[in-house]
Amino acid sequence: MTQLPIKNRFHLPKGMIYLDGNSLGPLPIGVSDRVEEVVTDEWANHLIKGWNVDGWMAQPARIGNQIGRLIGATPGTVTIGDTLSVKVFQALSAALKMRPDRKVILSDSGNFPSDLYMAEGLIRQLDQGYELRVVAPEEVASAISDDVAVAMITQVDYRTGRMHDMGEITDAAHRAGAVMLWDLAHSAGAVQVDLAASGCEFAVGCTYKYLNGGPGAPAFIYIRPDLVSRVEPALSGWLGHDAPFAFEQSYRPAKDIERMRVGTPPVIQMAALEEAMKVWDDVDMSAVRAASVRLCDQFIAEVEARCPTLTLASPRDSRNRGSQVSFEFEQGYAVMQALIAHDVIGDFRAPDVMRFGFTPLYIDETDVTRAVEILGDVLDNRTWDCPEFHRKSRVT
Ligand SMILES: *Cc1c(COP(=O)(O)O)cnc(C)c1O
Repeated sequence: MTQLPIKNRFHLPKGMIYLDGNSLGPLPIGVSDRVEEVVTDEWANHLIKGWNVDGWMAQPARIGNQIGRLIGATPGTVTIGDTLSVKVFQALSAALKMRPDRKVILSDSGNFPSDLYMAEGLIRQLDQGYELRVVAPEEVASAISDDVAVAMITQVDYRTGRMHDMGEITDAAHRAGAVMLWDLAHSAGAVQVDLAASGCEFAVGCTYKYLNGGPGAPAFIYIRPDLVSRVEPALSGWLGHDAPFAFEQSYRPAKDIERMRVGTPPVIQMAALEEAMKVWDDVDMSAVRAASVRLCDQFIAEVEARCPTLTLASPRDSRNRGSQVSFEFEQGYAVMQALIAHDVIGDFRAPDVMRFGFTPLYIDETDVTRAVEILGDVLDNRTWDCPEFHRKSRVT
């Protein structure tokens, strides 16, 4: 197994300390060449033949297995496509079909809004009296009552980094007879996940955060293998059909996880992701997790010593935290803009949360110390307090 960090596997702008891999991972070396090859050789020269000779049609299955290794999913149980919001919709609608006598979708207030929005849209579309019940993150396990059809929970809170206990919540869901759907957007490539051991029915996640697949990289979906042949796909597109090229008049789902595919895959974006996933070939997730905990603990200790006006918004105990650390500060937006101007890249989430993601693949102890020094200087000198850093951009 490779020693971390492996900075030479990434293109990182010189002098930049990138603490936002939880939002958009950096460019792995090799991806540019691979994308160029797909465009100038496979597409340009092979044209339609590429679907067969270049294996484009099997990309989602191959990438699904690459990702599966990182999240404890056995080969053939994960496929790739669309965006995470779409995968949430697919998993949620399939889960509701498995509990026709129940009407409650349970989630928590730390969930990412898009997951909640998709649930609301599905409920409106079904128009059968479904209810989205949103409780505080601490209350999820006890709130899974026997009217809950599906517990739809994001393991790591995008804002605070708070991490749910996957085993405990999955067991609580199953004791109550509910279906368990995990969103691993901030888990895959960040923390150790063992989907098979958890016994959950569904999982989804995205690939442009810790998996470095590039902006808009397609999402993944997992179904527990014993259930897949019974799952009813709401988005019954032709590439989820059992025999897409038989062009039958009526939909018949594929026998395996391929039924969660919808339409034509974005081949260029998929090729970027497949290449990006090679970074993980010799990387051990337990080593990534151990290093991530060390970096986050170091960051918390150094920020609290150097920047007493900031308030920790993440769990202090690393066992309850993903791979990011957040601090609250009233002027957090402006402080973050000043930090970015000094090449320390984190981000901001309303109303007052500054987020810092730690990815041991390319961040080390020296980077952490340097980032804290710059943060301390920005606060001491009130560098942030000028009009240009208060101006809000469209993406924060
Ligand atoms: C990042 C994220 C999303 C984003 O969904 P897209 O459809 O890929 O834009 C959704 N849900 C969670 C929990 C996320 O962290």
